[in-house]
Amino acid sequence: MFEAMARPDLIQDVVDANRILYRKGILDAFGHVSARHDRDPTRFLMARNLAPGQVQAADILAYSVDSGEPLMEAPPKLYLERYIHSAIYQARPDVMAVVHHHSPAVLPFTIARGVRLRPVCHMCGFLGGGASEGAGDGAGPPVFEIRDHAGDATDLLIRSRELGAALATCLGAARIVLMRGHGATVVAESVKLAVYRSVYAEVNAKLQAQAMALGEVTALSDSEAKAARITVEGQVERPWNLWKQEANSNDA
Ligand code: MN
Repeated sequence: MFEAMARPDLIQDVVDANRILYRKGILDAFGHVSARHDRDPTRFLMARNLAPGQVQAADILAYSVDSGEPLMEAPPKLYLERYIHSAIYQARPDVMAVVHHHSPAVLPFTIARGVRLRPVCHMCGFLGGGASEGAGDGAGPPVFEIRDHAGDATDLLIRSRELGAALATCLGAARIVLMRGHGATVVAESVKLAVYRSVYAEVNAKLQAQAMALGEVTALSDSEAKAARITVEGQVERPWNLWKQEANSNDA
């Protein structure tokens, strides 16, 4: 069978994304990054089961969007939650990259009742609205409650295609879905944007918590969020190049 090779620079982007998000404290020993295959939209690229800070190009495998399983015989150990990625690529043809993380400032917003993560600064407009602009109801990104789908005795992990599909449904047209007591999953049109949004979801969560401690909070309107997102995300190469350099320097 002819195996369409992914572009080497796409594989390298996935490697760099792992290292950047580790250095930024978004991923630790856990969490993962994937990209949709550039030559075959029914596949995606993601590391084998490995701490993100240790991922190298040789660790990146091709997986089926349909099944969430790797396209090879006798695969190495895999991430338990690979179905997060497969289900979202299946549900969202516009998504080219997915990051799943447990970043610490975002977690409280998956746990606390009566407060929602909202875009509160101009760098974080992606937290507003849906993929189709105007879809935002001002309520903030959706929060996935695993108990609604699998009862109250799970380990909270997305361990099956069915749970992956439920998570993708909850994500809907948004760019991030929070996962109660667990973490979040960020989607984007490129690996660079998925990294940017993962870093700045954490920044926004810290800012929002600090602002809420001071008093009532004003979030960006849907229109401000959209305008800010378009401006800032058009410059994604700038933070990417800086963070890539930092992540690949030995003395950082
Ligand atoms: Mn997880």
